[in-house]
Amino acid sequence: MSRSVLIIGGNRGIGHATARAFAQRGDTVAFTYRTDGPAPDLVMDGAMAVHCDITDPEQVERAFKEVEADQGPVEVLVVNAGITRDNLLLRMPEEDFAAVLDTNLTAAYRLAKRATRSMLKARRGGRIILVSSAVALKGEAGQTNYAASKAGLIGFGRSLAREIGSRGITVNIVTPGLTDTAMAAALPKERIEKIIGDVPIGRIGRPEEIASAISFLASEEAAYITGAVVPVDGGISMGH
Ligand code: NDP
Repeated sequence: MSRSVLIIGGNRGIGHATARAFAQRGDTVAFTYRTDGPAPDLVMDGAMAVHCDITDPEQVERAFKEVEADQGPVEVLVVNAGITRDNLLLRMPEEDFAAVLDTNLTAAYRLAKRATRSMLKARRGGRIILVSSAVALKGEAGQTNYAASKAGLIGFGRSLAREIGSRGITVNIVTPGLTDTAMAAALPKERIEKIIGDVPIGRIGRPEEIASAISFLASEEAAYITGAVVPVDGGISMGH
């Protein structure tokens, strides 16, 4: 059965692979983009592109309205957009801490709240998947802001799962390890090599590998999974 899916930050990287995975399952897919124009391959495949900066509540409201007008209430929400502003704590300006929390955590609150309201109204259950990070579990020097925001998503998602589970809405959190996208490409080569050295599977993840876990959590088969933290990280966070 085709569902109405909204991928936040679906233009590139993990979000792009996720939009492709849902489209391949036959779902009706909308995705947001912000900086560049929408990904042409997704549009060609019939996905709906919506411009949205998730730090702006008005743009979030407008994006939901556009998607609802086109494909009905959102039944699956994937909160994937995220940023980094890495620095050691003593060198980290307060605006870099705030910007990362604002995009990665406060915007997730805004998006999940908007989606939850319409899912409850539609009374057809729903799926919310939050993209966190292995860094939320194990910490990472230079990423106090990012780790705080991604760990915040876990507490947020689990609490929301308890609030709305009885209404057939599940909330799960995926924690990717280092994945081959622009975000990882921005890291120094030595840091990438050091991280890969700690990954039991011995390589960086592919965006499609994160997308397949997200797609499973959104499926009917995953109806009894909620509040789960699902690592897709080659084993790097094992034991954390
Ligand atoms: P990319 O940098 O490739 O993509 C980030 C996405 O977030 C883009 O689509 C970008 O949109 C969007 N975005 C950022 N800020 C905003 C905003 N204010 N409003 C709307 N959209 C925004 O990253 P990845 O694909 O690698 O990351 C996806 C998610 O996975 C992130 O949450 C990240 O933290 C997480 N993750 C990534 C890992 C990795 O190693 N790559 C590891 C662990 C977690 P646009 O390009 O249009 O500006």
